[in-house]
Amino acid sequence: MATDGTGVTALVAAQGCPLDCRYCINQPSKSFGCEKNLTPAELYDRVKKDGLYYSATGGGVTFGGGEPLLHADFIAEFRGIIPAEWHIYAETSLYVPEDSVKTAARAVDHFFVDVKDTDPSIYRAYTGGDVNKALDNLKLLLSLAGAGRITVRLPLIPGFNTEDGRKRSAAYLESIGITDLDLFDYKIPEI
Ligand code: SF4
Repeated sequence: MATDGTGVTALVAAQGCPLDCRYCINQPSKSFGCEKNLTPAELYDRVKKDGLYYSATGGGVTFGGGEPLLHADFIAEFRGIIPAEWHIYAETSLYVPEDSVKTAARAVDHFFVDVKDTDPSIYRAYTGGDVNKALDNLKLLLSLAGAGRITVRLPLIPGFNTEDGRKRSAAYLESIGITDLDLFDYKIPEI
């Protein structure tokens, strides 16, 4: 499984995110600003020119952010109008309402879940949020989609967690049924 989905994919950046990660690289997408809102049909019009590539390579469309699952209804409607062989991927923190997880589980083929860290105090310090909300939604998604449709990303975040802490997060995630972990290091530019 490639980082953002299999084959050729179009990356669609959703607006808005409920978290406030210290090293967020998607700052322009975080605010719930006034970018022109596309309808699912308008998005399809924009991406379909490369449709032959998506079909030939097993690719499709990757929804990133911001937090794309805040727009789960949009993704579900989009799913209904694209060719059946296109895949839909989502990069998500799962820091969203339960209903959004349920809708997305029906519309998205594969999820890349950015858990950050499972330690409540580290998660709070890094994102400003409550890790239990993300982990409860991860368990919900596991029950709805199955482990085969979920990749969990576990970063080593300079100044926030450690390799030992990350091992504890990995052990916890495996204990609840996650089978595909993507371990990587954040590279923080020096200033
Ligand atoms: S979840 Fe993603 S988009 Fe949201 S603040 Fe964190 S890094 Fe940025």
